[in-house]
Amino acid sequence: MPLPKAELHLHIEGTLEPELAFALAARNGVELPFADTAELRNAYDFKDLQSFLDLYYGLMAVLRTEDDFAELADAYLARAAAQGVRHAEIFFDPQAHTARGVPIGTVIEGLGRALDGARDRHGVSTRLIMCFLRDEPAQSALATLREAEPYLSRITGVGLDSAEVGHPPSKFREVYEAAAALGLRRVAHAGEEGPAAYVREALDVLGVERIDHGLRSMEDPDLVARLVRERVPLTLCPLSNVRLRAVDTLADHPLPRMMAAGLMCTVNSDDPAYFGGYAGDNFRAVREALPLGDEELRELARNSFLASFLGDEEELRARYLAEVEAYDFG
Ligand SMILES: [Zn+2]
Repeated sequence: MPLPKAELHLHIEGTLEPELAFALAARNGVELPFADTAELRNAYDFKDLQSFLDLYYGLMAVLRTEDDFAELADAYLARAAAQGVRHAEIFFDPQAHTARGVPIGTVIEGLGRALDGARDRHGVSTRLIMCFLRDEPAQSALATLREAEPYLSRITGVGLDSAEVGHPPSKFREVYEAAAALGLRRVAHAGEEGPAAYVREALDVLGVERIDHGLRSMEDPDLVARLVRERVPLTLCPLSNVRLRAVDTLADHPLPRMMAAGLMCTVNSDDPAYFGGYAGDNFRAVREALPLGDEELRELARNSFLASFLGDEEELRARYLAEVEAYDFG
């Protein structure tokens, strides 16, 4: 039995495996610029975040109907459950779909259908987090938030993703204020490729409760001290960092230093279909490549539940935490 964990940094579009991409392409009459799944997989040799995003947005063309989104999410939940994920807070990028003419309701209702069945079908509790594309204008993010208002009962929070450099968090001050006014929780990607200053801005200007990635916080000792003091969770994605060249090899990953500094770290999969592994694969990989033992892995799992938005289900959180404490690494 794998270590129980929560996944807090997972883009549902990034769980689109080549096999499902080709199946949906055939069903929807979409032509992919790849001969087969093997040729597509060969294209997963990224040199940075942008080279990944180009392929990622291209492949999304196959997602068109509510059924497509439901199938995508259900396939992820099955794989995640098999790797010990008990709770998943799932990101989605509405603008990547509305820009192609897919209504936001199709996306949210499709994902929502899979999430509604997740506890029964897979034993996984879920939350949905709507992300804004930071390389799009702030006005587009604001319009997206307005479009999502009829579906807010399905949405726990908002996030910020896509190409980071040149798009500081402060660009989205207004939309985060509006999201807060609607009672939504707030997270943001910061300090993946962008500087530590973006992490500060995400905290100070956007009022986020978690930082997605936050790797480059380590360049700023005062910021590290603050993140430790304020117990700000960081959702790290080690295999993603290697694939997108944020670190040279997994052995160079700062995770052990970050934990030793007292940061509240979690380990997540980001875009697992593209980066070589789901949540459990990331746990296994860091254990093999880095000086982390059973108790460090337990701390990462414990943190994932503590940092999750399970505040309205504290009994469930307590149950998950008890499972983590009782886990026998064997
Ligand atoms: Zn991400």
